[in-house]
Amino acid sequence: MANHYTPDYPMTRSILFALAFGVSVHTTCGNDPDNPHVRRRIYLDEFRPTSELKTSPHLQKQAKFPCVNVHSHPGRLSDPQIDEMVRVMDQSNIAVSVSLDGRAGAAFAEHHRKLTSRHPDRFVVFVRMDYVGDGNPGNSATWHVHASGYGNHMADRLTEAVRQGASGLKLLKDLGLFLRDPDGRLYRPDDSRFDPVWQRAGELKVPVLWHCADPVAFFRLTSEKNERWEELYRHPEWSFHGKDFPDHQELIDARNRVIARHPQTTFICAHMADIPEDLAKLGRYLDRYPNMYVEIAARVAELGRQPYTARRFFLKYADRILFGTDGVPPISELIPHWRFLETWDEYFPYEDNPFPPQGMWNIYGIGLPDEVLRQVYYENAVRLIPGVRLSLADQNQPVSKKSAR
Ligand SMILES: [Zn+2]
Repeated sequence: MANHYTPDYPMTRSILFALAFGVSVHTTCGNDPDNPHVRRRIYLDEFRPTSELKTSPHLQKQAKFPCVNVHSHPGRLSDPQIDEMVRVMDQSNIAVSVSLDGRAGAAFAEHHRKLTSRHPDRFVVFVRMDYVGDGNPGNSATWHVHASGYGNHMADRLTEAVRQGASGLKLLKDLGLFLRDPDGRLYRPDDSRFDPVWQRAGELKVPVLWHCADPVAFFRLTSEKNERWEELYRHPEWSFHGKDFPDHQELIDARNRVIARHPQTTFICAHMADIPEDLAKLGRYLDRYPNMYVEIAARVAELGRQPYTARRFFLKYADRILFGTDGVPPISELIPHWRFLETWDEYFPYEDNPFPPQGMWNIYGIGLPDEVLRQVYYENAVRLIPGVRLSLADQNQPVSKKSAR
């Protein structure tokens, strides 16, 4: 999974691609210390422009209202690390985090217990789609997903997980990009074998949180024209260009057909439905599918570079957008979220990283009004995710009457 929070920028690597934007500079720390004014090309990974812009930053350390993080990954944390995560949640005014790391079967109860026993009311857990079943994880030909009746069986496992406390189903982009039938062909996300699962989620009144694609640039040629070139250079395995990969729009269309076929099921589409680059198109989808919602995890970089369009989008679709981060963010990674959503700050880094990891730009705040912040931070989550409402009520956090089901 592409966890964009990983601060994995290797400072010492050599990029054999002289600065893609044709920048050459006068430098005093160049290759030739005897001649500090020699003009030389620099490598892209050496470029660290320091903004000279003077503005008044607002570095508030917490959300203005209690917040539900609908997209987090505490699955591999030890007990002390979970305690630390909760400490950060306390400091940031995050009331509840949704773990998307529940595995179907016996492991679900274990993960749920690990999070909730020490910190009741602070975690809600989704269960992941399981394609392997009793098969051998190392041999995909043996996986249960190929068997007839898989859909109904997985639906029953979802029912069992919900009985054990699951509040939703998590779906990764492996459906559409990695999962293959025994003949080696990729399963399409709208393959009818999965229909019983989506149907059951609707009957159980639990949402499906679906990460279905990746940034559009990951589906383009990794060339000097690719706006995520630097990131794809570090992670060539994140490129879905060529081979037999579907194109980006094919994945989006297949997911949307599933959403259309199951109007009684709530779909929370991760990462701004994987098309934050085109909010006009996303708005048309939201208009067409009333059971479709989006969350902002790991897409503040995309939203914050289009502040006017993003603000209009948030105002228009305030009841369809949820807050999420991905990963287990420290305070320093959360601050840009509050700045983006709550302030009018200009041209600031979207991550606490020596180098912009998701595209070489800075972002702008969109100064959302309180009523929109409340919807995005908790009201929509309370309405859509069972377990969140109970957790907030047990914490005596405000639970809007409007949000009651
Ligand atoms: Zn994630």
